[in-house]
Amino acid sequence: MFALWFVLVQAALAAEPRNVLVLYSNNRLVPGNVAVDRGLRAALASTADRPVQFFSEFLDRPEFSGAAYEETMTSYLRDKYAARPPDAIVAVNDDAVEFLARNRDRLFRSVPIVHASVSQSFLRGLPPLPGDIVGVPMEYDFAGTLALALRLHPGVTRIVVVTGASTRDQGWEARLRREVPPLAGNRQVEFLAEASTADVLHRLGELGDDAVVFTPGYFQDRDGRIFNPRDAAGMMAVASKAPVYGPFDTFLGTGVVGGMMPSFEAMGRQAGTIVDRLFRGDAPASLQLPAIMPTALQVDWRQVRRWRIDNDAIPADAIVHFREPTFWEEYRHLAILAAAIFLLQAMLIASLLLERRRRRSAEQAVQAQRTALAHASRLAVAGELTASIAHEINQPLGAIQTSADAADMILQAGGDRREDLLRIVTRIRRDNLRASDVIRRLRALLAKHEPERVPFDLNDAVGEVGTLLHAEAARRRITLDIVSATAPTWVAGDRTQVQQVLLNLALNAMDAVADLPEDRRTIRVVVVRDVGDAVITVRDRGHGIAPDDLPRLFDSFFSTKKHGMGLGLSIARTIVEAHGGTIRASHNAEGGAEFQVRLPAVDPQAVPAVSA
Ligand code: ADP
Repeated sequence: MFALWFVLVQAALAAEPRNVLVLYSNNRLVPGNVAVDRGLRAALASTADRPVQFFSEFLDRPEFSGAAYEETMTSYLRDKYAARPPDAIVAVNDDAVEFLARNRDRLFRSVPIVHASVSQSFLRGLPPLPGDIVGVPMEYDFAGTLALALRLHPGVTRIVVVTGASTRDQGWEARLRREVPPLAGNRQVEFLAEASTADVLHRLGELGDDAVVFTPGYFQDRDGRIFNPRDAAGMMAVASKAPVYGPFDTFLGTGVVGGMMPSFEAMGRQAGTIVDRLFRGDAPASLQLPAIMPTALQVDWRQVRRWRIDNDAIPADAIVHFREPTFWEEYRHLAILAAAIFLLQAMLIASLLLERRRRRSAEQAVQAQRTALAHASRLAVAGELTASIAHEINQPLGAIQTSADAADMILQAGGDRREDLLRIVTRIRRDNLRASDVIRRLRALLAKHEPERVPFDLNDAVGEVGTLLHAEAARRRITLDIVSATAPTWVAGDRTQVQQVLLNLALNAMDAVADLPEDRRTIRVVVVRDVGDAVITVRDRGHGIAPDDLPRLFDSFFSTKKHGMGLGLSIARTIVEAHGGTIRASHNAEGGAEFQVRLPAVDPQAVPAVSA
C-alpha cells in the first residue's frame, strides 16, 4: 500500500507541471477576485492529473487604462511568459476577457481561455468570442436584489441608488437607471451617482426608515478616490440610517443586509473545473456548460435583526450568514442532558418518596397490629389474673362490710359513741379507696391506647403491678419479693406496656415454680440502675429452660406449656426493643431461669412527652 502511494507521488512529482495564467481585471485585493482565486485553486488542486502552477497578473482597472497602458501590458505579458508559456489562461472579470480577446494575436495565440465572473450582458456587447474562449457567464441580479429589499421592507416609499464615477461604475448606473424604475411602483427613486464619498455618506445618514438603499458599490468616486466596491458598500452600510442592499456576495459581513447573489467562489470553482477538463483533452466545443451561474438569496442575520425584518418574509431556501445560534441551538445537547438528568433525578426522588410513604404506612400498620396484639395479650393476662383481681377487690369490700356491721351494732346499742363511728367511717373510706385504686390500675392496664413516650419512674410502675402480682402470688402460694431501686429510676416510654412486660415475666416465673414444693416457690423481682440503664431482673428457682429451647424462647408461638399461646415473650421483646432496650434469658445460678430487661435510663427533664 505504502509502496503504491510512494510510486504515485513520485510519478506526480516527476510529471511536468501545467502553467495556468490568471489575469484579473482589477487589483489584487478586490474581494471578489480573492474569492474567485480561492475557488479556482480548490477545484484544480483536487482534480488536475498533473501538478498545476498558477501565475497571477492584474490589469489594475480602473486605476490604469488607455491604449498606451494596454500596449505596455501586452508586451510585458508576452515577454514575461515567453519562457513559461501558459497551458491555459483564466480571465477574471469583464475587462480581462475583453483585453485578452482583443490582444490574442499578440498573446499566446492558441492557448485556451476560460473566463470567470464575466457578466452575460457584457459578453453580449463584445464581438463573438472564438470557440476556445469559454466560461459560464454570470449576471448580477440587480432587479432580484431590489425586489428582495422591497419585499423585506414593504412600507418604504423611497429607493436610493448609489453608484460611482469609473467607466465600470457608469455601466452599472446605466443599467440601474433602466432596471430600477419599473420595479419601484409608486415609490420615489433617487440616484446618488458620481458623488463624492463624503456627500454619499452624509446623504445616507439623513435617511429614515421610509427608505432602502441599493448599491453595487463603486470603484471610484467623483473626487477620483479609488475604492473596491466592497469597501465602498461597507462605508455606506455603516453611515446609512436605512438598510443597504447590494448584489455581490462579497458585501456580506460589511453591514449590507443581503441580496440575490452569485457566489464568486463558485465562479472560481466552475472555471477551475473547465480548465481541468480541457487539460484532460476535452474539446472546448464539447463541454456543454450551463448557460449562466446560479444566484442565491443571501442575507446577513445580524442585519435582519438590526432592521427588525420579519423572519417569515425570508424564504426558507435563503442562505443566512452569521446566524447567531439561539440558546437552544447552542446548548441543545447540554440542555437535553441536563433535562434528562433532572428528570431521572426527579423520578428517583419521586420513587424514593413513594417508597418511603409505602414503608411508613407499612410500619404504621405493623405498629397498629403490635399495639392491638399487646392489648389482646394484656386482656389475656387479666383473664389469668381474674381470681386475684376479684380477691383484691373483695378484700376492701369485705372490710367495708365488716365496718358497716360494726357501725350498725354501735348505733343499735345506743349511747354516745361518736368517736368510734367516726373511726369506722374513716376506715370505710380507706377501704373504698383501696378497691377503687385496684379498679383504676386495672382499667389503666386494660385500656386500649396509642403507645406514648413519657418519662416515668420504673420503681413506681413496678410497684403498681406489684400489688396485683402479690395477690396472685399469694393465691398460688408463692413467695414474691419485689426490690425497688434505691433511687428513682427514670425511663421514657409507655408505662402500661413496660408493666405488661413485667407481668408476662412474673406470670411465666410463677408457672415455672408451680410444681415445686411450697418452700422453693420463690420469685424475686429486682429493679436497679446500672450505669446508663434501668434494669429489671425476674428470677425464679423453677424448672429452668432447656438449652435447646433457649434460642427459640422469644419466637412467636413458641410454648412448652399445655395451654400456652407462646406470645408473652415475643410481645415482651417487641415492647422492649421499641423502647430501645434489650431482653435476654439465662439460667439462674441457683437453678431456675433469669430474665433481664434493660431500658435506657433518661433524665426526666430532657424527655418531651409525645405519642410514639
Ligand atoms: P407461654 O407462656 O404462652 O408459653 P411465653 O412466650 O410467655 O408463652 O413463653 C414461651 C416459653 O418460654 C414458655 O412456654 C416456656 O417454655 C418458656 N419460659 C418462659 N418463662 C420461663 C421461665 N421463667 N422458666 C422456664 N421457662 C420459661
